[in-house]
Amino acid sequence: MPLWIAREPVPDNIPNCDYCGGPRRFEFQIMPQLLSILKENDLDWGVIAVYTCLDSCVADNSYKEEFVFKQDVELKNI
Ligand SMILES: [Zn+2]
Repeated sequence: MPLWIAREPVPDNIPNCDYCGGPRRFEFQIMPQLLSILKENDLDWGVIAVYTCLDSCVADNSYKEEFVFKQDVELKNI
């Protein structure tokens, strides 16, 4: 399960794998510290959560498109 940076939004429905139709599961997350390592000022995110096919099915021996959910930092009334 991802370590979210905000309470919401969180994905309520992870779509099944486009290739085998099976369920996906949370695989890894990318934290915003990467932005400072990349010295990137035009992008921003809180957490990027990546969900991949539970069966790791193979599709034509090439890269596969998986499901990514981006959560931004929760901004309250500042
Ligand atoms: Zn699959």
